[in-house]
Amino acid sequence: MLELVASTATHCPYCALQCGMELTVDARGPTVAPRDFPTNRGGLCQKGWTSASLLAHPERLTTPLMRDRKGGELRPVSWEIALERIAHEIRAAQERYGRDTVGIFGGGGLTNETAYLLGKFARVALRTPHIDYNGRFCMSSAAAASIKAFGVDRGLPFPLDDIPGAESILLIGSNVVETMPPVMQYFDEQRRRGGNLIVVDPRATRTAQGATLHLQLTPGSDAALANGLLHIAIRDGLIDHDFIAARTSGFAEVRRLVASYWPERVERLTGVPAQQIEAAAHMLGAARTAMILTARGTEQQSSGVDNVLAFINLALALGKAGRPHCGYGCLTGQGNGQGGREHGQKADQLPGYRKIDNPAHRAHIAQIWNVDAASLPGPGRSAYELLDTLGAAGGVRTLLVMGSNPAVSAPRAGHVRDRLAALDFLAVADLFLSETAQLADVVLPSTQWAEEEGTMTNLEGRVLLRQRACDPPPGVWSDTRNIAGLAERLGEGQRFPAEPRAIFEELRRASAGGIADYAGITYERIAAEDGVFWPCPDEQHPGTRRLFLDRFATDDGRARFLPVQHRPAAEEPDNDYPFYLTTGRVMAHYQSGTQTRRVKELRDAVPQAFVEIHPALARRYGISDNDTVRLTTRRGIASVVARLTTTIRLDTVFVPFHWGGEACVNLLTNPALDPISKMPEFKVCAVRMEKV
Ligand code: SF4
Repeated sequence: MLELVASTATHCPYCALQCGMELTVDARGPTVAPRDFPTNRGGLCQKGWTSASLLAHPERLTTPLMRDRKGGELRPVSWEIALERIAHEIRAAQERYGRDTVGIFGGGGLTNETAYLLGKFARVALRTPHIDYNGRFCMSSAAAASIKAFGVDRGLPFPLDDIPGAESILLIGSNVVETMPPVMQYFDEQRRRGGNLIVVDPRATRTAQGATLHLQLTPGSDAALANGLLHIAIRDGLIDHDFIAARTSGFAEVRRLVASYWPERVERLTGVPAQQIEAAAHMLGAARTAMILTARGTEQQSSGVDNVLAFINLALALGKAGRPHCGYGCLTGQGNGQGGREHGQKADQLPGYRKIDNPAHRAHIAQIWNVDAASLPGPGRSAYELLDTLGAAGGVRTLLVMGSNPAVSAPRAGHVRDRLAALDFLAVADLFLSETAQLADVVLPSTQWAEEEGTMTNLEGRVLLRQRACDPPPGVWSDTRNIAGLAERLGEGQRFPAEPRAIFEELRRASAGGIADYAGITYERIAAEDGVFWPCPDEQHPGTRRLFLDRFATDDGRARFLPVQHRPAAEEPDNDYPFYLTTGRVMAHYQSGTQTRRVKELRDAVPQAFVEIHPALARRYGISDNDTVRLTTRRGIASVVARLTTTIRLDTVFVPFHWGGEACVNLLTNPALDPISKMPEFKVCAVRMEKV
C-alpha cells in the first residue's frame, strides 16, 4: 500500500539525463510532474510522465519466489527462505567448484550505493573476480577511449548548458530527439543562436532531419569518416597548431595516418558524398567553439574504441577541447551508467574509478574494507564473456543478476538464454518477472526509485540525490538490504551496511583520491546545490563542472592523439545475408522494456517491434507496411512487422531492441567484441529477410 510521505523532489527512473521531477502520492495514487532542474529545465518525456504508474503496478513482484527444482514452478516464499537458499547455493558451489564459479551481473540503473555494495559483495563476501554489468553494453567504448586520450572518463566533461554556446556540433550515432527529448532544449538554443548541427547516422532520424547537415554513413564506417574529416581539416588549414603544441602529444603520427583518407576514398568507404564531408569539416573547423558528441551508434561496434578515438583526434586537432563550449563528450544512456562503472560494478574496477590490477589502488580499497589486499580478486570476465561461459567448464555456475535483463539485452540472446538455463543456480532481483527472472531459481522483489534513497550520477558527471518519496509495498526490500542480508548469511554481515547513507559515507572514503572522487559530496550538498559534479575532493570544494581547463588527466597533462585505421565490421553483408542490420531505441521504451512495456500509454504508443525498410528494398521482397517479416542472421531468427520508410538507407534495416520473445532483435545481433572495451557489436551485422 502506498503511503503519503510528502510531495518529494526526485529524478526520473530511466535515462542518464535524470530529469528532475516531483512525486506526489494522494488518494488517486502516485503522480509525477516535472520540476525546474538544471538538466531538464522543466521538461519530461513520455516515459518520465508515466513512470509513477509502475509503483503500484499489478504485475509488480511483492514477495520472493522460488522453485524447488529445475523445471518446477516459481512459488512465493519468505525472505528468510529465499536468502537462505541463495546463501546455501553460493556456499555449496564455492566449496564444490571454487570461488570463481559464483558470479554477479549488475545493472546501469542501480544507485551508486547499490553498485558500490554489489562490487564490494563480489570482492569481499564472495571473493570472486566475476562481476560485470549491462553498462558494459552501453558506453564502455567511449569510456575506454576517453581514458586513453584524456586520462579520465566522465561522459560529458562539461555541463549541458555549455551546448548552446558551441558554434558547431558533430553528433555521431545519437537520436536525442527520441532518446532524451528534454535535452533538445540545449540543441534548439544552439541552432537559434545560429549554430550548426551535423548529425552522423545511417538513418535519417528525427534528430538528423532537424540538423544543418546529415551524413548518412554506411554502418561501421565511422572511423573512416572521422579520419576523412581530419584529413580535410589539415589540408585546408583548419587545425589549431598552438593548441596541438601546447596541450597534446602524438599528432605527427595521426597526421601521417590520415593523409591516406582523402575525400573520394572516404566517400567510397562511408557512402557519404565527398562534398558533404568537406562541408562538415569546414563547419567544424571554421567555428570558434565546437563539440563532438558520440553515442551508441558509433560505440557499439567491434571497433568502438577506435571509432571514438578517431573523433577525439578530430576534436583535439581543431583545438576544441579544454575550454568552455568545446570538447568531446559521450551521451551516456542508462540512468546510472556513469556511476555504475565508477564504483566497482565493472570487472576491472574498484571504487573511485580505481583499477583492480593496480597495487596502490588495491591497497587503498583493502584498507577501507578492512581486508588484506591480497585477498581481493583480480579482474574478471567482461559482461558478454561472463554470459557466454555460464554453466560451461571453467565458467560461472551460480549467478546473481540484479537490475538487468540479459535474456533480452545481450547480443546473441538465444545463446545467452541457453547459457542462463545451463546454470546450476540463478537468482534474479528485479521489479517485475522479466525474461531473465522467468529463468531463475529464486526471484527477489526490489524497491523502485521512489521508494529508496540513493544517489545517481548523470551523463554530465553530476551526482544527484533520489530522495525516498513513498513506502514500497509490504514485503519488498531494497537491493542494499537484500545484499546485506546475503552477506550476513555468508558470515560477512558486519562489513555490509544496508542503509544508503551509511553506504554513501563509505563510498566517499573509498573514492577519496581516486579519479571519480566523491569525498566532498554529501546528501545535503546535493540537495542544496542541484547536484555536485565530481571530482569533489573535500566539502569546501565546489565540484568540477568543466574538466581539462588547465590540464588533461594524463601523467604529463597532455591529451593524447592515437592513430586509428578504419577496419570493417566483424560481419559484412554477403550473398547469403545481403543487408546491414542496425538496432536502437524508440521514444516510448527503455532498454529491454521490463518497465516500459508494462506502461499502458507507452505500450499503446509503440505496441510491437518493427523493422524499418526502405520502400524500394521492400518492393523487391514483396513486403508491404505491417507485413510480418522474418529476419535471419547467423545467430538466429526474429519476426517483426514491416514499417516502410525512406529515412533508412537502401542497404540497411533497423529494429528497436526493447522486445522479448520472437521479436527480440538481440536474437540476431553479433557478439563480436571490441578488443579493448569488450563492447559487443550491436550496431552492425549482416541479415537477410523474407515476408512470412
Ligand atoms: Fe528525462 Fe530520460 Fe526520464 Fe525521459 S527517460 S524523462 S529524458 S530522464
